[in-house]
Amino acid sequence: MARRSSVGAGGIPTQSVGTRCTLNTLKVSLQTNSILDPHKKPYENRPQNFKNLVGIVMLPSAIESIETIIVDLPTIRPHKLAMHTMQNQTLVIIRLRCADGIEGIGESTTIGGLSYGGESPDSIKTNIDQHFTPLLIGQDSNNINAAMLRLERSIKGNTFAKSGIETALLDALGKRLGLPVSELLGGRVRDALPVAWTLASGDTAKDIAEAEHMLDIRRHRIFKLKIGAGEVNRDLAHVIAIKKALGDRASVRVDVNQAWDEAVALRACRVLGDNGIDLIEQPISRNNRMGMARLNAISPVPIMADESIECVEDAFNVAREGAASVFALKIAKNGGPRAILRTAAIAEAAGIALYGGTMLEGGIGTLATAHACLTLNKLSWDTELFGPLLLTEDVINEKPVYRDFELHVSQAPGLGLSLDEERLAFFRRDKATTAIHQA
Ligand SMILES: [Mg+2]
Repeated sequence: MARRSSVGAGGIPTQSVGTRCTLNTLKVSLQTNSILDPHKKPYENRPQNFKNLVGIVMLPSAIESIETIIVDLPTIRPHKLAMHTMQNQTLVIIRLRCADGIEGIGESTTIGGLSYGGESPDSIKTNIDQHFTPLLIGQDSNNINAAMLRLERSIKGNTFAKSGIETALLDALGKRLGLPVSELLGGRVRDALPVAWTLASGDTAKDIAEAEHMLDIRRHRIFKLKIGAGEVNRDLAHVIAIKKALGDRASVRVDVNQAWDEAVALRACRVLGDNGIDLIEQPISRNNRMGMARLNAISPVPIMADESIECVEDAFNVAREGAASVFALKIAKNGGPRAILRTAAIAEAAGIALYGGTMLEGGIGTLATAHACLTLNKLSWDTELFGPLLLTEDVINEKPVYRDFELHVSQAPGLGLSLDEERLAFFRRDKATTAIHQA
């Protein structure tokens, strides 16, 4: 039960150490500290050591704690990419708890440890725990602009980690207001998103059988083939055989994950165009933007930028240089669901088409992207939000709904998801350590 507070120096209500009370709309905690410097803007007040804060006046929506949990989840099969074969998937789950008891959940997920980009699950956890959390404790979770600006001022890059935090903030706000994240982002113009499936066994006959099954059960009619790891002629023959088998019943696209050089890509783009392939994703290195521009100018098949866009500013430069005619939107690489809307605005202004991309997130990250994609004016190349379908287990109670070739997104508050505590406890990487500590 809350104790009555007294008024301390500077008019800030104080409490004896170890107690906390709610005073009207203010949550008053512990001792007095300089965190609430009246001469600073709210986001400039930085706790030096939040364990020893004194007399902090906290809003009900103030962030009280942030927990990061690494979970290792089994996948339905190995997933073969140009740079890595995934045997399972690791997610970093973020629990952002507020003073009023609202909990926002987020997810930061990478592909293949450090083989895709500069962040790994371990670095995401460490950086959020050590660098993000001290900046955010005590901040108003309702003010997402201020919270993200505060991070941006002190932390460069780390877009995967920032994306998980922004997702958790949006989820908390949505739950508090009773609104889905799509409405917080301006409102949805669709309720469902067509979803591509990646054929990544590397075996042509197996991939054709898998595609036929997906068409039969009406789950996917867009197929993306991961190529680039093998010899180019063999890769092209693999793709052409699959397109020939599926014909007009499906859209077939390729993702090269930067594996080709420009000369190989030039020839391959023509061959793929002659054989009915609809889209070529990141054929060459992200560093060769002029090469991407040359390919984009002459390829008969649209070129999509994926690795080329690691932040919103990259998107602007790719657009300015004509280095792609389609953008893959990924919350992890832009820094959150709101950040991909900034990239989408650049694309829209430049006449570049859009595609909802994935880092093979579980349900939380997938729904975070989906809510943002629901708000876009145009999403001409649909999405690849199939991450949850690649996992045999997840750590949420609500299974994402896939039917009639689309992912259907509910109007429930926030992301519309809650954590499955039992599964979370089972799959968390530190469970052995946690069990020992509890014992
Ligand atoms: Mg890609």
